[in-house]
Amino acid sequence: IKKIAILTSGGDAPGMNAAIRAAAKTAMAKGMKVYGVQRGYMGMLNDEIFPMDGGYVSGIIDRGGTRLLTARCLEFKDPKFRAIAAQNLKKRGIEGLIVIGGDGSYHGADLLSKEHDIKVVGIPGTIDNDIKGTDFTIGFDTCLNTILDAVSKIRDTATSHERTILVEVMGRHAGDLALQACIAGGGDGLLIPEMDNPIELLAFQIKERRKHGKLHDIVLVAEGVGKVQDIEEALKQKINTEVRSVVLGHVQRGGTPSGFDRVLATRMGAKAVDLLEAGEGGVMVGIENNKIITHPISFAWDGERSYDFRPDYELALLLAK
Ligand code: ATP
Repeated sequence: IKKIAILTSGGDAPGMNAAIRAAAKTAMAKGMKVYGVQRGYMGMLNDEIFPMDGGYVSGIIDRGGTRLLTARCLEFKDPKFRAIAAQNLKKRGIEGLIVIGGDGSYHGADLLSKEHDIKVVGIPGTIDNDIKGTDFTIGFDTCLNTILDAVSKIRDTATSHERTILVEVMGRHAGDLALQACIAGGGDGLLIPEMDNPIELLAFQIKERRKHGKLHDIVLVAEGVGKVQDIEEALKQKINTEVRSVVLGHVQRGGTPSGFDRVLATRMGAKAVDLLEAGEGGVMVGIENNKIITHPISFAWDGERSYDFRPDYELALLLAK
């Protein structure tokens, strides 16, 4: 493969730039011609494809977001539009594509590689950590640290006012951010979509703790559990302490990527190019036991999660008591 393209798709995640940089520089070092696709599949469809040089990826390793921009593109679910998008790569002689994104983006990548003769490699870039076949996704660690910073600040005010504060973090289907933020932030309660989350139990634990002199409660709530305002209302009926909720929102997506995310993204970006060089496509890269590995791209939805959250969940609940 002599010509490859890189795009970022779906929700942005800190560290995507480091992956773009690593992929581009590795490919250039191997003598490949590299193209950037702006705005994900939308740009591929609209022919926003440009030759990338080393200067384009210079000075971006520590920048959050994605220099290539990202977008959602509903048309890409229609084979007719995927054919137009594929043709935009082919007319430039591009045979390999690196897609950095979440599992929705992987579905598009899978179809593209099956329907058209394009080798596609997926790199997991999403703060949610909700992709199977990898212990970590790019952006998760940075996002976790952003949440921890907020939790510390929220705890200060929660203590002063002796409040119970529900902190809603991202995670529609996976509670990894809430779970690990609860462990690392010393949380006092945890509600995640993978589990039943009886409000009665949470209320009981809060009341017990208050009897023993605790001045605050920080409860981590993954967004997939439901509206945090509704949970706040339900909890208010059951405890005497003041309850507030905070939705951290888009602040979680930004910020300079952590060292961990930069190294992870760099290793994955380079691996994606090695795979394309070897003529492999229809695969995703992941990290398992600190090794960069590959799976068929469909493993992202058909496979087993490599992170078993249950031991951590038990630990988080034990320490939250
Ligand atoms: P995140 O989970 O971080 O938001 P994501 O990649 O899962 O990232 P989505 O919005 O689900 O984000 O998907 C990104 C894009 O991938 C969509 O806008 C669409 O262009 C494409 N895509 C998603 N699902 C499919 C599908 N079933 N078939 C073809 N293309 C798809």
